Amino acid sequence: MLCNNTAAIDDDSTGTDCIAPDWSKVDAVVANEFSIVLDDLLQNVLLPHEAMTCCSGHVAKCTDLSHRLIIDQYYSDEISCTKQCVDLTVPMKLTKHSQFNVPGWCDIVKVNNDVSRSVFLEWVYCGRPCTGAVFEHMTRCRARFKLALRYCRQHEEQLKADACAKSLDLGDGSKFWRSLKCE
Ligand SMILES: [Zn+2]
Repeated sequence: MLCNNTAAIDDDSTGTDCIAPDWSKVDAVVANEFSIVLDDLLQNVLLPHEAMTCCSGHVAKCTDLSHRLIIDQYYSDEISCTKQCVDLTVPMKLTKHSQFNVPGWCDIVKVNNDVSRSVFLEWVYCGRPCTGAVFEHMTRCRARFKLALRYCRQHEEQLKADACAKSLDLGDGSKFWRSLKCE
């Protein structure tokens, strides 16, 4: 039995809306992962029969409302797979606004995010098992990433102060500014 519903695993409860894909980080390796994962996700989206058979020869414009709904659904399923694939394979960055607001990103979330991504891909390569060591490891890592992100959001003021104190202790002015900009 395979897990096809990654949405259940990858819920949006942490409010990831301020994270954007970093297209500048897409190299040949990421592009290859993207293609493999998208292929895998699209296995679950079937081309509707109606799309092929309706108004054969394109002699007339389709007026069947149910056909339009089915094709709309097909389109939105494809888009949703693509978005999910971006989320799973393309490295992320915080938007400018959130970079400043979540200063703990570099130290806590980034590491967890990198680990979580590679462990997730390993799970996909293993055929998306629903049980077993690979599955357990993947869900643990993704949970840890979400927890880290939530922690950063909740404690952003404290983290900002900590980052400031840490850099001042080390007497490293440039590090201080980097930690605030979080680049
Ligand atoms: Zn039709």
